[in-house]
Amino acid sequence: MINLYKGAVLIDGLGREPLEDSVLAVENDTIVFSGKSSSYDAPAGANTINLSGKTVIPGLIDCHIHMDLHGMADTSDENHVEEKLRSIRTAYNMKKTLQQGITTVRNAGSVNHIDFAVKSAVEAGWFAGPRIFTSGQILSMTAQGNDYFKGMYREADGPDEVRKAAREQLKAGADFLKVMATGAYMNPGGVPGAVQYGLDELEVIVDEANKLGLRVAAHAHGAQGIVNAALAGVKTIEHGSFIDERGIELMLEKNIYLVPTFVAGYHIFKNAKESGVPDFMIKKNRGMRKVRAESIKRAIKAGIKVAFGSDAGTSYNCHGLNAMELILWVKEGFMTPLQALCSGTRIAAEAIGIEDRVGTLEKGKLADFVVVEGDLTTTLDPLIDRIKAVYKEGKEVSMLN
Ligand SMILES: [Zn+2]
Repeated sequence: MINLYKGAVLIDGLGREPLEDSVLAVENDTIVFSGKSSSYDAPAGANTINLSGKTVIPGLIDCHIHMDLHGMADTSDENHVEEKLRSIRTAYNMKKTLQQGITTVRNAGSVNHIDFAVKSAVEAGWFAGPRIFTSGQILSMTAQGNDYFKGMYREADGPDEVRKAAREQLKAGADFLKVMATGAYMNPGGVPGAVQYGLDELEVIVDEANKLGLRVAAHAHGAQGIVNAALAGVKTIEHGSFIDERGIELMLEKNIYLVPTFVAGYHIFKNAKESGVPDFMIKKNRGMRKVRAESIKRAIKAGIKVAFGSDAGTSYNCHGLNAMELILWVKEGFMTPLQALCSGTRIAAEAIGIEDRVGTLEKGKLADFVVVEGDLTTTLDPLIDRIKAVYKEGKEVSMLN
């Protein structure tokens, strides 16, 4: 059976101007045509769905979430949620994420391998969720602050231990590895500018991932940590707050993507007063909005590809609000809405290596798409409250809770 989604303004993820009066033809799970209605010969018996007045975009791809954090004000409170309940809560959050048009997520660090269980359950069809790529635990040197997220870090020091830790995540089913190249903001004691893993350790991690054709994502705020991660051969730099010229040069040379996760700090300040957000988090993030905005602008100007990642799960950064990241990029003047949509779809797909299957609305791709009420050429605000329908692999997602 072929379904024709007809009459919408189509934004295909390739960066082209939105196409009026389009048709998206879907056979089973795959797109068989995408373009102008007038240039398509509809097969007899095709089922037509009228989408006039709506906009259709590719399913969004969030390259950085933490599925088993819940947006609690003080993330250390997550440690008190009983783990079986936490797994079910994670499933609930993944359903909400999908209902908001995020059809693929890359989960950048999870507690005690809850991620693998939830991913298996989605794949078994037990509940609706996005396509999940996940890292297992985050590889980190022994460092102050790690216990703030109990069970999320696999601490290992020196090349031999690090190799073992990397292999453990891969054995458990990791789709990529997540590694700490510098300290963090979101825990007490972490120093974001400080180098953590050295080049020798990072190289071992990249080596283990690459053996399986997999990639490495490096958490890196400080300039030297970014350089180390780039030299070691990671594929994405997460955050990139203090990126310098050398970092930019290396990222360009090695085709490394930046996943800035700008919105995490926004939520902390928006909610700081009423709050419960711990003091250290507010203090450490103070003044960072400007620094981070400038870094992102510099990176974009230099030609670095920026991929969508929300850090969903951190304080008040609740699952389902992921697209706030893209909305902010537009508001901050980093990108136009169309450019931000490319970063949230095609470029995100490239960053995690799935561009042959998803990320654009082209013939042959899986039919992941989102129907939005309203115009997306001047603002992306409708991505939060005006999602009308979501399709993953050609199937309409139930919007019921
Ligand atoms: Zn994160």
